[in-house]
Amino acid sequence: MHPCVVCETHSEAPLCERCETKTRLNLATIARTWRASKTPPQVSRKPTAGGVKMKRRSHPMPGGDAWQDWRHGNALGALKEWAAAFAEHLGRETPIVPREDAPAHYAHWLANALAAVLDHPAMLDFVNEVQSLAARGKVAAGEADPGPRAMLAPCPSLIDTGECGELLRYYHGQPYARCKACGVEWELGDVLARLDAVWLPAGLASHTLGVTTRTLQRWAKAGQITQDEGGAYDVLPLILDRI
Ligand SMILES: [Zn+2]
Ligand SMILES: [Zn+2]
Repeated sequence: MHPCVVCETHSEAPLCERCETKTRLNLATIARTWRASKTPPQVSRKPTAGGVKMKRRSHPMPGGDAWQDWRHGNALGALKEWAAAFAEHLGRETPIVPREDAPAHYAHWLANALAAVLDHPAMLDFVNEVQSLAARGKVAAGEADPGPRAMLAPCPSLIDTGECGELLRYYHGQPYARCKACGVEWELGDVLARLDAVWLPAGLASHTLGVTTRTLQRWAKAGQITQDEGGAYDVLPLILDRI
């Protein structure tokens, strides 16, 4: 008996039965929502607050961030990588799946392999990533709301004492925010274009970008994102890609 790597309940296996079942359900959700999200959902666009006309930096992508992220982001790569890691753990060949709906095939393969790889050293990361992917799949397939994903950035307005610096709060799908201190409305892209870096601790960076901390670690290893000694990530280049 030892504690489950996820919930710390005492169990026979490194992952308890409840967490194993939950992970299996999440894998089924990934497969189902992948097949159900082939076309972008209809997104409604909110009018700019206060009716102020502002130039848009770029047209929003069809389907919104959540759908684009899900269909064209790292979902396939992440599942493929886990399949390769588990296959190696089992001393088996990396599975080859049909290209059509590949993420759904990988999710099925992983669900079938799960019982045999519960002792994999990265099981906790796997469970977390699968949970995050299932949640993203539900949003992309229109089964769940994206929820507020806030991005904070200092207000660049020039006031008597220098830069305003009040934190502007941007929500998912709303690239404009009015500063509570100076009242100026700023487009997120314009604010970010004036900054050299946006350092966020891992949890907040993961929340802001909608990816797991494991994905952040992978990006840092691949040199796609910079991590400082304290573990914070500079998310600026990735945010600029997404707005
Ligand atoms: Zn558990
Ligand atoms: Zn301000």
